[in-house]
Amino acid sequence: MIIIMCPHVTDEEIQGVENKLKSSGLEANISRGVERTIIGAIGDERKVDKESLRALPGVENVIRVVKPYKIVARESHEADTVINIKGITIGGKTIQVIGGPCSVETQSQMDLAAQGVANAGCRLMRGGAFKPRTSPYSFQGKGVEGLKIFRQAADKQNLPIVTELMDVRFLDDFLEYGVEVIQIGTRNMQNFDLLKEVGKIHTPIILKRGLCATLSEWLMSAEYIAAGGNHNIILCERGVRSFEKAYRNMLDITAIPVLKKETHFPVIVDPSHAGGKTALVPALSKAAIAAGADGLLIEMHPNPCEAWCDADQALAPLELKNLMGELQGIAQAVGREI
Ligand code: PEP
Ligand code: MN
Repeated sequence: MIIIMCPHVTDEEIQGVENKLKSSGLEANISRGVERTIIGAIGDERKVDKESLRALPGVENVIRVVKPYKIVARESHEADTVINIKGITIGGKTIQVIGGPCSVETQSQMDLAAQGVANAGCRLMRGGAFKPRTSPYSFQGKGVEGLKIFRQAADKQNLPIVTELMDVRFLDDFLEYGVEVIQIGTRNMQNFDLLKEVGKIHTPIILKRGLCATLSEWLMSAEYIAAGGNHNIILCERGVRSFEKAYRNMLDITAIPVLKKETHFPVIVDPSHAGGKTALVPALSKAAIAAGADGLLIEMHPNPCEAWCDADQALAPLELKNLMGELQGIAQAVGREI
């Protein structure tokens, strides 16, 4: 951490900064230049609150040298982390496409969806039993009953399941139904108490990016999970809020290579919630893989027009299968396989 002092700083002010650093277990290295005095803090700078230093008299600016996140940072773990879900890997050479409906509706809908997912060649299935809806009057998901339906449908096709946890009170149900991957949705990316709870288990977590979250905020949320001991984290870019109205969210393709540099955890992309329109899903999927994504999370419904949730963006089973074929070439071009 580097502390830049104001012009005409006094010895007392410098002493004040030194004392503050010492109280946090850091040493101060004072460098007096002709125009400015700069103090280098030596030690674990994460222990010092940047704001409380900036508030001291005589301090002009405080610059961090190391990343605020530790466990999730690539600098602390150079090799890619590969998440293993019953022998299916995310973050290795193979790109995984997780397919399935937005929400769990009925047993027959989920049975058909599971057939479609398996038939398309996807190895993992998605589906929401608990749905975060903007309106309290919209369908809220089937809850625990939905987990049961989902489990039955997926087991028939031998597909591990990915489903969203919104409330820690249902974590035991998720564990009871053997949910293989827990999704923490966009709206809960900064629900720190929820993040701490899923940090205590070892189930892989898909952490979706918050609607307006910076990459640093997102990685700090991942750090919450990792700090608890759960290092099975998959980051999912799903588009961010923007000024554009022609599509649902703006897919931040740039985030993919930046995250791959910043963190060792796998990065996947949800083109469905980004585009918000079925027709946009193939192009966004291809762009994501070309940019280095480790996987995709795609909404597919056996009968999209009838979907209870996000009907506009769901692919039909055949569309998913065709897309899987089209993605092969892109994957090969970037040295991956599907
Ligand atoms: C979902 O995946 O079903 C979902 C609600 O996504 P998001 O949290 O990205 O809106
Ligand atoms: Mn959805």
